[in-house]
Amino acid sequence: MLVLDGKAAAAKLQEKLAEGATEYFKNTGRQPHLAAVLVGNSGPSETYVAAKMETCRKVGFQSSLIRFDASISEDDLLKEIDKLNADSGLHGFIVQLPLPAGISVDRVIERIDPSKDVDGFHPVNLGKLAKNQPCFASATPWGIIRLIEEYRIETSGKHVVILGRSQIVGLPMALLLSRNASPGNSTVTICHSKTANLKEIALQADILIAAIGIPEFVKADMVKPGAVVIDVGINRIPDAGKKSGFRLTGDVDYEMVAPLCSAITPVPGGVGPMTIAALMENTLIAAKRQAGLLP
Ligand code: NDP
Repeated sequence: MLVLDGKAAAAKLQEKLAEGATEYFKNTGRQPHLAAVLVGNSGPSETYVAAKMETCRKVGFQSSLIRFDASISEDDLLKEIDKLNADSGLHGFIVQLPLPAGISVDRVIERIDPSKDVDGFHPVNLGKLAKNQPCFASATPWGIIRLIEEYRIETSGKHVVILGRSQIVGLPMALLLSRNASPGNSTVTICHSKTANLKEIALQADILIAAIGIPEFVKADMVKPGAVVIDVGINRIPDAGKKSGFRLTGDVDYEMVAPLCSAITPVPGGVGPMTIAALMENTLIAAKRQAGLLP
């Protein structure tokens, strides 16, 4: 069984992105610049945003963290997004989710200029992905594509079962793997909370991708021996033995499932680092497009 090491693969991708940033600087005299908008101060969001800012530093990008109080109104947040859209010093930005209750995620995402939407959440980018046109693919599924490439996992003709149909993970993952591309050309089945016989369907997967947000949902009796298992889940489980008071677990029961698989991603250290690397890749692409260096 092969452990798909997202940390190592992300470090390799980041080396290339750092070279890209140097090249970009030579051409434009600027660094690619990513901003993150953080509303409120929930623990996990702080951690994710800090990791993104730190990765910017490692690859030679400029980064800005823009904080707003959790009490900001939706209207005011939309006005702040307009300012970021208009800021020519900024190539891309993300709004860290979740947002406080009372602010519509859809309205906020739809306000972002698609050419700066490096998370790839805007409907224009999702639509272009569906049409296989140049776009920003959602960072988590795009990071998984890069991981699949790194480990030369064959996807053509394979049956991929995706657990979860969210617009930021499950759905774009299905689009990416079913398109006529490499990696791609898979036969994709999407399962969700209303799927009947989910276990039987999961058992047919050559590649099983779990993105539902339920700790250790995927058990050994749901996995075909020799399958590749990609665990997107990040769940915090209370653990008095840990200094932080919690441990992270995925959507897959790793201990029981790993011995059955041909390859599996760990949590942490699998999909998470690839998501951040993919976000950096999108930022470099945004910077190049805005400088006229890419179509
Ligand atoms: P969402 O909550 O948006 O979507 C969850 C999906 O799982 C929905 O489609 C839902 O179905 C489905 N689902 C829920 N319960 C079941 C069930 N019992 N059986 C089958 N399907 C079910 O989550 P996200 O897509 O945003 O995230 C999924 C997981 O991935 C989370 O753990 C999240 O933390 C993690 N994540 C990790 C990232 C990373 O960088 N590693 C990045 C983003 C997310 P329905 O549509 O019917 O409600």
